[in-house]
Amino acid sequence: MHARARVLLLASAAMAASALGQDQAVNLYSARHYDTDEALYANFTRATGIRVHRIEASDDQLLERIRNEGANSPADVLLIVDAARLTNAEQLKLLAPLKSRILEQRIPPEVRHPQGLWFGFSSRARVIVYDAKSVNLRDVQRYEDLAAPANKGKVCTRPGSHPYMLSLVSAMIEHLGEARAEAWARGVVANFARPPRGGDTDQIRAVAAGECGVALTNSYYLVRLIRSTKPEDRAVAQAVGLVWPDQNGHGTHMNISGGGLVRNAPHRDNAIRFLEYLASDEAQTYFANGNNEWPVVRSAVAGNPELAALGNFRRDPLSIAALGRNVAAAQRIVDRVGWR
Ligand code: FE
Repeated sequence: MHARARVLLLASAAMAASALGQDQAVNLYSARHYDTDEALYANFTRATGIRVHRIEASDDQLLERIRNEGANSPADVLLIVDAARLTNAEQLKLLAPLKSRILEQRIPPEVRHPQGLWFGFSSRARVIVYDAKSVNLRDVQRYEDLAAPANKGKVCTRPGSHPYMLSLVSAMIEHLGEARAEAWARGVVANFARPPRGGDTDQIRAVAAGECGVALTNSYYLVRLIRSTKPEDRAVAQAVGLVWPDQNGHGTHMNISGGGLVRNAPHRDNAIRFLEYLASDEAQTYFANGNNEWPVVRSAVAGNPELAALGNFRRDPLSIAALGRNVAAAQRIVDRVGWR
């Protein structure tokens, strides 16, 4: 066969397959990539006959990609992490409002967008880790303590413009007002042990090494070290103390992994079925455990002994949508105080 004829034949076969596949696939743009996700998607396909095609990239790359693809984007579902990024997706108008009785009944209102632009599927806490050899536990009970004179030269964080920091600053704005939140941020910067660098795991390692006295991390990074097969990782986790911040105040700052229906989703019905599946008890357990997070659906079993062993704590009930409203102000604050 001529090469040209073969190409045409392949092209028509591909078109036929895609026409047939219209109702049997969902295109997932996901910033997640955990081993347990394989079982999650396989179970969905088994239950519905809908295949899950995945594009995996970083959160920011996925937002950029859908934006560039525009109205022709094959993306049906977008899964990313953090209130600041979900707000970004919302502002870029990448998501479609979704009304789903299943999602509204199962997912608590504080972790979903009021008009259904995005839904939280698992939650994480932003916690304090400290070095008990150089820091007094009494001095690191609250986020506000990170700006206190007692912690001069001891504080480590990742850069202030990172979504995890922006969301925390957003929560501080909500609780303290913009002026006091800015004073707090200025105080944190004045207390740095070193200029911000690295991710959350790097902050934990620096506390374990004694380079930093106190740092902030998302809870799952600590659990990842606790569950690591490498003894040196477990030693790092053991060397730091954990504090659930603000237990006598607003409660510990919470954030989510989440996502929603993409605006021009070509497989809209399949996308909705997939999102509703993520809120099932079974999917919730897989989804949360993949990244050592908590399920958002109350009836779902967490099933993560290492996470459970960290104990119970009081959570800040502040809605994720409220955080999103303060992200721009949070960015201005970190810029003004030089948290970079
Ligand atoms: Fe993370």
